[in-house]
Amino acid sequence: FAALERGDPEIAHVLLAEVERQRSGLQLIAGENFTSTAVLAALGSTLANKYAEGYPGERYYGGCAEADHAERLAVERARELFGAEHVNVQPHSGAAANLAAYAALAEPGDPVLAMELSHGGHLTHGSRVNFSGKWFHPIGYRVTADTEQIDYDEVRDLALAHRPKLIICGATAYPRLIDFVRFREIADEVGAYLMVDAAHIIGLVAGRAVPSPVPHADVVTCTTHKALRGPRGGMILCRGELAQRVDKAVFPFTQGGPMMHVIAAKAVALREAASPQFSSYASQAVENARELARALAEEGMRPVAGGTDSHLVLLDLRGFGVTGHDAEVRCARAGIMVNRNAVPYDPAKPAVTSGIRIGTPSVTTQGMGTDQMRRIAGLIAAAACADPGTRDGADALEDLKRDVHALVAEFPPYPLHV
Ligand code: PLP
Repeated sequence: FAALERGDPEIAHVLLAEVERQRSGLQLIAGENFTSTAVLAALGSTLANKYAEGYPGERYYGGCAEADHAERLAVERARELFGAEHVNVQPHSGAAANLAAYAALAEPGDPVLAMELSHGGHLTHGSRVNFSGKWFHPIGYRVTADTEQIDYDEVRDLALAHRPKLIICGATAYPRLIDFVRFREIADEVGAYLMVDAAHIIGLVAGRAVPSPVPHADVVTCTTHKALRGPRGGMILCRGELAQRVDKAVFPFTQGGPMMHVIAAKAVALREAASPQFSSYASQAVENARELARALAEEGMRPVAGGTDSHLVLLDLRGFGVTGHDAEVRCARAGIMVNRNAVPYDPAKPAVTSGIRIGTPSVTTQGMGTDQMRRIAGLIAAAACADPGTRDGADALEDLKRDVHALVAEFPPYPLHV
């Protein structure tokens, strides 16, 4: 870091300010986490300099011995951790992993059945503004208005009516478990491939805190930076017979050279995720989310789908009298990072929304438990109803910011100089 301070004080300043931002607030964005310093070290390594197009043993560049070693370790660790027949660790992101999975399993114009964005699905699950909605023929399934959970009969009806080439499950804002066995049955009935986008839950799967999609899916895509606690990136797990198609879809079809420093960091994170401590972490992340949902319900915020089985809680704020946008902005003023999120059948505009999404991966990594979740629920509720446009509201948010500082100071995520 001293070299960076000398060579580029402006960027050094940004990095220090960002560490301070991460340390001084409550990080409750469901898809974020604090990586270990070992993961950061791999990310900042000279493997960043290396071109290694291709796969271990079959590169298009010389000098790839160490790159091969890093990638083989990452693949082997992922295969073992998830019991997958084949793993590709090269996708640059979750969206890139999904693009490659579509390329491996479908042709442009093919019907693809996936969860609608406004009901918890991801952009890459058929949104009109994304490649998935433009190049494929998306059919969306929803959650029911009463349970706010997936209606598997509707999924089956849609599958029978449209005969999709590919069925996708896995979501961005769905707090409950997904029945992968049921999805497999539906896919088999209509002769479709089943792809599980496990970006959000893969860390919980690694820690055995939720059931694994791997035995049921043809392809599992994921990110490595959410609950899994690795570097930003993507990964694809698949059945052995799809290995070649998946590998070719990643390189050379959708990507060029892999980011070898990121792959090394993925290997580090996968090793960490295989430890007993990581299993305790994953279970604690779920327990914390459940406690947060309970405590926020007591504050008048309604947990969508009646609660959570995972690391995230989706809250409907209509009964609380605040929009998702205002709650997000007010919480941020108090140093609490959450994101506005549409709730199922949301009447509000996407930029406003009626809900917020809250995740426990980061605070659980910091070592917080259920006692702290109750404190956090009180802080969120107090911040969400403090109107910064009024003198009292602005003062209240300043006071809350001090309370947030006091809480996070007990659980520092990184030593001071990282
Ligand atoms: N899939 C799901 C379910 C996600 O939640 C996300 C990110 O939030 C992605 C894919 C995309 O990941 P990335 O942002 O790394 O492209």
